[in-house]
Amino acid sequence: MNTNRIAVLPGDGIGPEVMAEGVKVLKALAEADSSFQLEMTSFEWNSDYYLKHGRMMPEDGLTTLKNFDAIFFGALGDRRIPEHIPIWELIMPIRKNFNQYVNLRPIKQLPGVKSPLHTEGPIDFYVFRENAEGEYSNMGGRLYQQMPEEIAIQNTVITKKGVQRLARYAFDYARRNDVTKVVNATKSNAIIHSMGLWDESVKAIAAEYPGIEVEDAYIDALAAHFVQRPESFEVIVASNLFGDILSDLGAALVGGLGLSPSANLNPEGDFPSMFEPVHGSAPDIAGKQAANPIAQIWSAALMLEHLGRKDLSAVVMKAIEQVVASATTLTPDLKGNARTFETGDTIVKQIHQQM
Ligand code: ATP
Ligand code: MG
Repeated sequence: MNTNRIAVLPGDGIGPEVMAEGVKVLKALAEADSSFQLEMTSFEWNSDYYLKHGRMMPEDGLTTLKNFDAIFFGALGDRRIPEHIPIWELIMPIRKNFNQYVNLRPIKQLPGVKSPLHTEGPIDFYVFRENAEGEYSNMGGRLYQQMPEEIAIQNTVITKKGVQRLARYAFDYARRNDVTKVVNATKSNAIIHSMGLWDESVKAIAAEYPGIEVEDAYIDALAAHFVQRPESFEVIVASNLFGDILSDLGAALVGGLGLSPSANLNPEGDFPSMFEPVHGSAPDIAGKQAANPIAQIWSAALMLEHLGRKDLSAVVMKAIEQVVASATTLTPDLKGNARTFETGDTIVKQIHQQM
C-alpha cells in the first residue's frame, strides 16, 4: 500500500486556522480507513519566515516539495510585507516549476446555500483556468519614467502548446462527465494576436472531441451571462486573467469565498499538484476563529480525488453538504455563529457517521 505524502503549507492569517481543520479531516479519514495511508509534513514558509530570512522559502524549498505527492496550501498575505512578495516568491514558483498549468475551480451551489441571484436551477460548473502563462507574465517594461510621455508595456504570452494542454484537460473532463458543450472565454475580436491564437488552439483540440461543441463567448458578454443564467454553464475554459475574474465572480454566486476551493493541477503527475482555498489570509478576521474552514476542507476533497481516492473525496463532500444544509454549525460568513473549529468538528463527526 502506498503512503500519500502531503506537504502542508498553512501560511498566514486565517491560513493556519482553516488548515488545522483541513488536516483534522484528513486525519479522520486515515483513522477510519486503513487503506488510506497518510504522512503529512508541515512547512512554516510564510510572512514571518520572510521577515526573518528575507525570502519566502529556503533556497532548496522547491527541491524539498518536489518529492511530495501533493501540496496542501492555506493562504498567504501579511500587511507587513509587500503584496507581490508571497505571490512571486512562493506561489508562482510552485505553480510554474511544478507545471501546474490547470487551475480548476468548481463553482457549485450546495443545497441550502442561497445565491444572490434568482436562478432557474442549481449552479454547478467548472472553470478551467490556464495557470502557467497568459496575461500574468512578468515580461514588459516601463519607458520614459516620470516623464509626460511615460508608457508601460505588459506582454501576454500565449503558446499553442500551453493552450492546447489546458483545453485537452477540460475536454477530457467534459467527455468523462457527459458534458456536450465547452464554453471558451475569449476576446479575440479586440485582442487579436494572443486571443486569436488562443481560440485557434482551443478549436484544434475541440476537433478531437466529436460530440462536444465549443462555443466562443466574449468575456464581457460572458460576465453578463454569469449573472443572467449561471445555471446554464457546465465547463468553461479561460485564460489566466479571464479565469481569475470569472472564478471569483462565480464564487460570489454560490456562497462566497468561504465555500470556494481550488486545485492547481499538474495532469502528467511528474510534479506535485497543489490544493488551496480561493480566499486569501483575511487579516480582518484572523486569529478570531471566525473563518469558514469549508473552502480548505473542500480543497482537501479535490486533493483526495487527485490522489485516486474518489471514494474518500465523496465522503468529505457529503459531510460538507450535510453540515451546510443543516445550518447548525456555520461560521459568520454564512450567517451562523460557530467558530472555525466547531464547523471542522461537525464535518469530522459526519465523516465518522459515514465510515
Ligand atoms: P488576497 O489578496 O490574499 O486575495 P484579499 O484581502 O483580497 O486577500 P481575502 O483575504 O480572501 O482577500 O479576504 C476578502 C474578504 O473575504 C475579507 O473580508 C475576509 O474576511 C473574507 N474571507 C476570506 N476568506 C474567508 C473565510 N474562509 N471565511 C470567512 N470570511 C472570509
Ligand atoms: Mg483577493
